[in-house]
Amino acid sequence: MADPICPETGTPMKRGVAPMTISYKDQSATFEMPGWYCDKCSESIHTGEDLKVSDQMLNRLKAQQKRQRPVQPATTAGPTPSSR
Ligand SMILES: [Zn+2]
Repeated sequence: MADPICPETGTPMKRGVAPMTISYKDQSATFEMPGWYCDKCSESIHTGEDLKVSDQMLNRLKAQQKRQRPVQPATTAGPTPSSR
């Protein structure tokens, strides 16, 4: 398979890892995300295999969230549109 070309700058992209932070509710995790990265800009391409890594991290966060069973106070960020 040929190396992908950056859609932004036309630069051949390289395999590598970069720190990525994902968040789920009030949890967040930073991990090394594999993928194709561009030298010239911040563009990145992730294959299905790469996305499995972030999927796994997200699942881990969700599991942590479940284990903690936080009591959610009824704080609403804004008014809920309930009028019809
Ligand atoms: Zn680029």
